[in-house]
Amino acid sequence: MTETREKLIEIKNLKKYFPLKSSMFKKEKQVVKAVDDVSFHIFKGETFGLVGESGCGKSTLGRTLNRLYEPTAGEIIFDGHDIASLNNKELQPYQKRMQMIFQDPYSSLNPYMNVEEIIDEPLEIHTKLSKNERREIIIDILEKVGLKKEDMEKFPHEFSGGQRQRIGIARALAINPDFILCDEAISALDVSIQAQVINMLEDLQSELNLTYLFVAHDLSMVRHISDRIGVMYLGKMVEISKSDELYNKPLHPYTQALLSAIPIPDPIKAKNNNREIITGELPSPIEMEKGCPFRSRCPFAKAICAEAEPQMKQIDNNHSVACHLY
Ligand code: SF4
Repeated sequence: MTETREKLIEIKNLKKYFPLKSSMFKKEKQVVKAVDDVSFHIFKGETFGLVGESGCGKSTLGRTLNRLYEPTAGEIIFDGHDIASLNNKELQPYQKRMQMIFQDPYSSLNPYMNVEEIIDEPLEIHTKLSKNERREIIIDILEKVGLKKEDMEKFPHEFSGGQRQRIGIARALAINPDFILCDEAISALDVSIQAQVINMLEDLQSELNLTYLFVAHDLSMVRHISDRIGVMYLGKMVEISKSDELYNKPLHPYTQALLSAIPIPDPIKAKNNNREIITGELPSPIEMEKGCPFRSRCPFAKAICAEAEPQMKQIDNNHSVACHLY
């Protein structure tokens, strides 16, 4: 079956390398390959989850895609336009359409600004609306995220963590974006509050026709909100699949290990589960050897895995994997 949905974002061979400070012992310039030749797309109106261990490059990928970081190479096609090499001025109309919700609702809000000023900031920068018109919008958005008009005068310290994240979401929504990067947006919240924020994000998505890139290390939460999920390892995308299929039939040994690490609340099921726990440390992203980046930790590694890097291979319409086993 051919996919007919429209793509909002298409990433082609994206790289983001960070140069390291040169040392007197190393002549060659060293780089950290945080994102290394990644390609994928996000359909309009979908939630694409991005998972992987801390340090795998998922947040860097999100921020490069949003042009918060300058890409080293590759294309970022947003609604049909390559925005990868646009300058700040050319980028402005796209930045208006691409917003972000940050991980930490404590540090991402300016403590000296009240709620009205926080949400008004992007409106003032990106629109020509009058103060009164902007105020109406702010009141409307606060209602959408479950806060009240009276909250406009308050400062961030007067709110709980969950309420602060609602303010962050209201700020992201203020200029009516098409796309929101949710970068570990619920990781700092209590579990009960996480569910509330996720439900609210889902409601807002249907109401406002939003597209999300949901970056998280909590796989159970990602499954709940995502239509499709990409798994990253050491700056590479190693598997992409529909959410349920990834959980029911993970193909890449790394994805299998990640899923095995999710705690199982039922002790009998947990005992009968043949868990594939990954051992060993994440290899250095600076001096990468040839072959599969996962091979030092992979229980299925074979000779070819040390010789050639596996390329992404489409297994069916909704499932791709980069592994020599397929
Ligand atoms: Fe393991 Fe080889 Fe597959 Fe890499 S390519 S995940 S080392 S089997």
